[in-house]
Amino acid sequence: MQEFCASLPLAADQWTLADAERSQHATDWGTDRADGSAPAAVVWPESTADVAAVLERANETGVPVTPYGAGTGIAGNAVPVRGGVSLDTTRMDAVLDVRPDDFQIDVQPGVIGIDVDEALARHGQFFPPLPTSGAMATVGGMVSTDASGRRTVKYGTVGDWVRELEAVAGDGTVFTAGTKAVKSSSGYNLRDLVVGSEGTLAVVTRVTLETAGIPAEIRGGRAVFESVEDAAAAIADARRSGVDVASMELVDQHCARIANDHLDTGLPDRPMVFLEFHRNHGVDAEIEFCESVFADHDPLRFDVVDDAAMDDLWAVREELADAVVQHDPTLVSAHSGDVAVPPSEFPALVSFIHDRAADAGLQAPTFGHAGDGNVHFDVLVDPDDPEMVDRGSAVSHAVIDRAIELGGTCTAEHGIGNTKREFVRPEHGDGAVGLMGRVKDVFDPNGVLNPGKVLPED
Ligand SMILES: Cc1cc2nc3c(=O)[nH]c(=O)nc-3n(C[C@H](O)[C@H](O)[C@H](O)COP(=O)(O)OP(=O)(O)OC[C@H]3O[C@@H](n4cnc5c(N)ncnc54)[C@H](O)[C@@H]3O)c2cc1C
Repeated sequence: MQEFCASLPLAADQWTLADAERSQHATDWGTDRADGSAPAAVVWPESTADVAAVLERANETGVPVTPYGAGTGIAGNAVPVRGGVSLDTTRMDAVLDVRPDDFQIDVQPGVIGIDVDEALARHGQFFPPLPTSGAMATVGGMVSTDASGRRTVKYGTVGDWVRELEAVAGDGTVFTAGTKAVKSSSGYNLRDLVVGSEGTLAVVTRVTLETAGIPAEIRGGRAVFESVEDAAAAIADARRSGVDVASMELVDQHCARIANDHLDTGLPDRPMVFLEFHRNHGVDAEIEFCESVFADHDPLRFDVVDDAAMDDLWAVREELADAVVQHDPTLVSAHSGDVAVPPSEFPALVSFIHDRAADAGLQAPTFGHAGDGNVHFDVLVDPDDPEMVDRGSAVSHAVIDRAIELGGTCTAEHGIGNTKREFVRPEHGDGAVGLMGRVKDVFDPNGVLNPGKVLPED
């Protein structure tokens, strides 16, 4: 590996074989240290030419290359399972151009999500699909997982806001995909192939993102329900009725209790829906409309909250994922679930998760971006009890199978990584998986780019 790195046209401080750096790049957020896999070297490109040079040399030598952003992925996406080089993009962190008149911004892949918002704020604009991890995650990671956040119900996913990108394919070809025009019918859509491909087809080196004006009226609220079924039915009804909501998040009673115990929040010990509305005018009328739809599902309360209280609600929501896995050190998540179904099937899926977990005698705290049919669930098990671990895995698998049966997906936003490859074929079928394999071969004929990810093993 020393020879490989020394042969690259890079400065001495752009690569290392040091244990500390290799170990830092052996895991992502969702991967235990014990399941990590250290790269043989870490390389920090500073330009598109640097990325191309690494990939050209990798193709000559067969050394695997795995792009690494901030490592906040949940599915082992950036873990270099076959060793080789961890290609850390964080030095490519420049905001290149802001064009407020076109509602566009050009950035390098290592720019952190909230820095996009900061660059836009002085123009009265923002980047709507920022994920909850926007204060940590890079644009390259967000584009490559097609991340999305709590505002997807109104604004869509990160991929919906990518206009154009520059990337280096696995075989070293530098290319631009998409356009800065608002629409285009020209050529095959390589941009949308790269979006969500988890660094298995190409390394993203520049992105033109679309932006939006900050709405004049932003208000939040919270509805409390007796049962999670009522909460889920209210969410589905609001979608069906066309309520214009920017965030609609479910927090079930297990999560409310965990938040109260672990985060000291004093929330009602009941299922809740957190809401945010974005309008340039008429926000109060829209909130009243939402309340009238929710009224059919017996809410115990429907509160409109002030800005400070809204910030507190979203802070709780942002800490929930961590709180769920940390609140009881004797329990771990059998699988970090990230399924999604069409909005009308959301209540059926939530009931299924709770019923299957109860039948198995297990807890499954459930929360998520309910407005877009996305449920996060953790089936909690004692890792020292193999029988309980098996029971938990069976519940998680049953939930994923059910989501796919309902017309949904095994992963709404976290990606396949190396933890959900077995579900790709059931979700997409043999024909589509065969074509995906051939697409991979076109971009990366020698299989050097993030091997061991996304596509099923067989
Ligand atoms: C607390 C917390 C909250 C989260 N909330 C959300 C959420 O609301 N929504 C959501 O979607 N996700 C969420 N995530 C998951 C994660 O933050 C996202 O998947 C994020 O997009 C990953 O960005 P990253 O920079 O950390 O990428 P990494 O984890 O470093 O990499 C992710 C994938 O992208 C690839 N990659 C990285 N950079 C490039 C590049 N330049 N070119 C090609 N491939 C590249 C990697 O190889 C890997 O496959 C959350 C994670 C945490 C820890």
